[in-house]
Amino acid sequence: MSVLIVGSIALDTVKTPVEEHADLLGGSASYAALGASFFSPVKLVGVVGDDFPASEFEFWQSRDIDAAGVQRAAGKTFRWSGEYAWDMNTRQTKSVALNVFEHFRPELPSSYRTSDFVLLANIAPALQLHVLDQIEKPRFVIADTMDLWIETARGDLDTLLPRLDLLILNDSEAREMTTETSLIKAGRRIMAAGPRHVAIKKGEHGALLFGNNEFFSCGAYPLEDIHDPTGAGDTFAGGMAGYLAAQGGVPDFAQFRRAMIYGSVVASFNVEAFSLERLRTLTKEEIDERYQLFRAMSQFEVVV
Ligand code: AMP
Repeated sequence: MSVLIVGSIALDTVKTPVEEHADLLGGSASYAALGASFFSPVKLVGVVGDDFPASEFEFWQSRDIDAAGVQRAAGKTFRWSGEYAWDMNTRQTKSVALNVFEHFRPELPSSYRTSDFVLLANIAPALQLHVLDQIEKPRFVIADTMDLWIETARGDLDTLLPRLDLLILNDSEAREMTTETSLIKAGRRIMAAGPRHVAIKKGEHGALLFGNNEFFSCGAYPLEDIHDPTGAGDTFAGGMAGYLAAQGGVPDFAQFRRAMIYGSVVASFNVEAFSLERLRTLTKEEIDERYQLFRAMSQFEVVV
């Protein structure tokens, strides 16, 4: 089963304490689409400018990512730049240029409107709602969000929440959204606002998953070398969405747990190189191998 993904497609400039690279392919939808493509075909929705490399469309095609929903508009592609601190976790946004994103109003091709699985990757909640409204009978809807929308578009975000099967956000966003210090309380408060499940990411400390009377906590795959954390969250969301779509039907909680591990594994590969470079060469075999390693290191026995 394919997954429809809408979000940003960007050219990023990323600075870490040791390296800086400009005009790299980025954006929430770019990362999410590639993350999902290891498990399911993708239908991509977004906008790019006339400076966007044509080779990327060929690459998407080679990975079963349908780009019929990607508009090419006159002007420049959305640009974002960020800088990481020494912990490679704390990030400061240096600049944002909306460019063609400013007037983006996604209109779905008719072949997209019957999609069952939908991932609303990080963009303004009003656009996420606009896309969702065009899908006839979505069976499973996931959304990602960020601090900017919690602060500036809370009304739209609150309208979206009851329409979601899964909301994905990080720990600081969950705390900001609920004004709770405990992530357990924050997860429950967000569930009460409507989504059927909530996943809270904790960066290098793993993730929490809340369901109806169900809960799962997993660590993060321990990595020695992190080159660029950009897009880890989007890749996590894409991996989860792709895995769940590939299972077909409405997933049970065991499938959710496995999806979260797969999401973490794909995200762990993503941060090993700048931009999407590691994901371009990654294989499903490497993902499965790391999944098994991760599983083995997460199991424990009590010795008495
Ligand atoms: P993440 O590291 O998962 O938070 O995602 C980083 C990606 O999000 C970058 O590639 C950016 O191009 C993209 N991004 C940054 N700000 C925004 C925004 N306001 N809306 C949509 N995408 C954004």
